Amino acid sequence: MTLIVRAPLSGADDTMIERISAELRAAGATEVVALSLGEVPVLVAQGIGLDSCPRVRELDPAIDITEVSKGAPLVNRNDFDGTTRVEVGSVDIGGPEFTVIAGPCAVESYELVEEAARCVKEQGATVLRGGAYKPRTSPYSFQGMGLKGLELLCQVGLETGMPVVSEVVDPREVELFHGRIDMLQVGTRNAQNFALLREVGRSGLPVLLKRGFGCTVDEWLHTAEYIVSEGNPSVVLCERGIRTFETSSRFTIDLASVILVKRQSHLPVVVDPSHGCGDRGLVLQLALAAAAAGADGLIVDVHPNRTLAKCDGDQALDGGEFATLMQRLRPVATAVERPVREPVTVPSA
Ligand code: PEP
Ligand code: MN
Repeated sequence: MTLIVRAPLSGADDTMIERISAELRAAGATEVVALSLGEVPVLVAQGIGLDSCPRVRELDPAIDITEVSKGAPLVNRNDFDGTTRVEVGSVDIGGPEFTVIAGPCAVESYELVEEAARCVKEQGATVLRGGAYKPRTSPYSFQGMGLKGLELLCQVGLETGMPVVSEVVDPREVELFHGRIDMLQVGTRNAQNFALLREVGRSGLPVLLKRGFGCTVDEWLHTAEYIVSEGNPSVVLCERGIRTFETSSRFTIDLASVILVKRQSHLPVVVDPSHGCGDRGLVLQLALAAAAAGADGLIVDVHPNRTLAKCDGDQALDGGEFATLMQRLRPVATAVERPVREPVTVPSA
C-alpha cells in the first residue's frame, strides 16, 4: 500500500513537510519522499494505508490523503492543468518554447561529437545528445565508448555551452552519470526495466524517458510514475515509435500518442523522428508533424559523416539536412504558438 499526501499550498513550508513526513514514518511508512507537482507539495509514503495515520490530518485539515494500489496518479493531470517544466541545464523543456535536442546517435570520438555539436548549435539546437552506452540488438555490434564516451560528450557540452543528454542502461551505472550529465535517457529497450526506472528516479536528475516500443500510452505513463514516485518529477516523455505490422519503416511513429499524453499528463513530451522511422528521408516531415501535433520538442540524430557512423547512420541527418529541418520547423512551431528556443550566443569578450 502507498499513501499520496498533498499538502495545502499555504503554509506548506519545509517544517510542515518535515512534520508530515515524521508522522508518516511514525505511522509505519517504510519510505517517504517529497516532491512538488507544479506548485503542489506532495509526499509519497510506501508501506502504509489510510487506517494507519489518522494524525497527519490533525496537522492541517486541508491536507489531502489518498491510498493507492494502482494507477499513475502523480503523472496524470488530476488537479494540475499546466505542463511540468523540466530544467536541463539552462534550457527548460515544457515551457512556452519548442526545444530541439540533436547530435550523433553514439559518441564515437571527440572530433565527431565536437563537429556535430558545433553544427547543431549553429542551426539552433539547444541540447546535445550522444550515446556512450549503446543498447544494441546484437552483442557483436558497437556497444558504445562507455565512461570515456560520457566524458567526451560532457567535455564538448561544456566547450559549446550545451547541456547534454545520454542513455543509461544499467541501474548500477546511474552513479557514474551524476555530476557529469544534465539529463539521463532511458531507452525504449529499457523502458520497463523497473529497477533502472527507480534508480534514475532516486538520482534526482532530469530524465528523458522513451516509450517502450511495445508499450501502450497507459503503460508508458506508468513507467514515468516509477520515476516520479521516487521523488523525481523531472521527466520528459519521448515518443519514438512502436512496433506494428508495418515493416516499411523501422517503427511506426504514433503521433496521436503525443496528443493523448498531453491530455492525460502534465509531463512534457518530445518526439524522436530518427529512431521512430530509421530513414533520414522521413525525418523532416515527421519532425514538422510532431511540432504541429503539440509536442514540446524533438530529439534528432545528426552525423556530419553518416557513411562512417558506427550506429544508425541511415537515419542520421547531415549538417545541411539538419539546417533545412530547422528552417522548415520554425514557421510550423510558431504557427502552433510554440516558437523554437534559440541558443543564447554569448558575445566574446
Ligand atoms: C537512442 O536515442 O540512442 C536510442 C537508442 O533510442 P531508442 O531507445 O528510442 O531506440
Ligand atoms: Mn540510435
